[in-house]
Amino acid sequence: MDLSKHAFFEGKIVPLAEAKISVAAHGFMYGTTVFSGMRAYWSGEKERLFIFRPYEHFRRLLDSAKIMSMSIPYDERALIDLTIELLRADDWREDVYLRPTIYKADFGVGVRLHNLRDDFCMFVTAFDKYLANDSDAHLTFSSWRRVDDNVIPARGKISGAYANSALIKTDANRAGFDEAIVLDQDGHVSEGSAMNFFMVRDGKLVTPPPTDNILEGITRRSIIELAREELGVEVVERSIDRSEVFLAEEVFMTGTAAQIVAATRVDYRPIGGGVMGPLTAKLRALFDDVVHARHPKYLKWNVEA
Ligand code: PMP
Repeated sequence: MDLSKHAFFEGKIVPLAEAKISVAAHGFMYGTTVFSGMRAYWSGEKERLFIFRPYEHFRRLLDSAKIMSMSIPYDERALIDLTIELLRADDWREDVYLRPTIYKADFGVGVRLHNLRDDFCMFVTAFDKYLANDSDAHLTFSSWRRVDDNVIPARGKISGAYANSALIKTDANRAGFDEAIVLDQDGHVSEGSAMNFFMVRDGKLVTPPPTDNILEGITRRSIIELAREELGVEVVERSIDRSEVFLAEEVFMTGTAAQIVAATRVDYRPIGGGVMGPLTAKLRALFDDVVHARHPKYLKWNVEA
């Protein structure tokens, strides 16, 4: 991966090689860090980078921090400003992925959240495709279960919970699948290893509600709005049974890294006609226009860097 030359670390922009966290730091030892994954898209026409919905990403980051009893001396606006500063430091002219993190920065053994210092850091990496096969993916149902709100809150983007995502992803890949659908403790569809789940049934777009232990995805929120406002599609947030997925007309998954992944098979059953469906294709094209600042109505989501 093509990493940034600079990072934001301990209050300032430094060369990436100097942005190092101790082996004795709480965040490293206990997974007590929260993060976001954001993208900035290069617009060749406008010769500019546009960060996609950074306010919403930082809002979720600060919400995750609140759950984990963390606080930092920056609000969303300050975080956006230092993101712009960091992007400019390396003069990126391609699509990039940003990884802001808030972590328990004190040293020493003793697992807890209280009476520990918190800090913030961020680096950037060039980023193209997350899933090689994003137009014809084969999914499986994971034998793992999604972390529960009362285990590690799923609506927080908490690093420790990504041990769950890693188990889901690796077992799916080793079994020959592109990605997995993970069920919650009640057996309902929650999401993917790091993407939200959508299906089309009877012409309606259906996605699990936040109370089914999903991460409240910024891409998910954007897709719901675009489907309703631009394509006039009815969107329903409700619990989804495993067997319903086999009967869906279309299935796709969304995330900042993944973008919109069309799934055409689930556990060897073809979805719909076994090729990317029309609504998925339309949403992918629309989303690509929106993130690259080509859609006048949604320029409010593109923050110029
Ligand atoms: N679920 C999980 C567990 C994730 O890690 C991600 C990626 N952040 C998503 C869903 C999708 O969220 P977003 O659209 O905000 O990237």
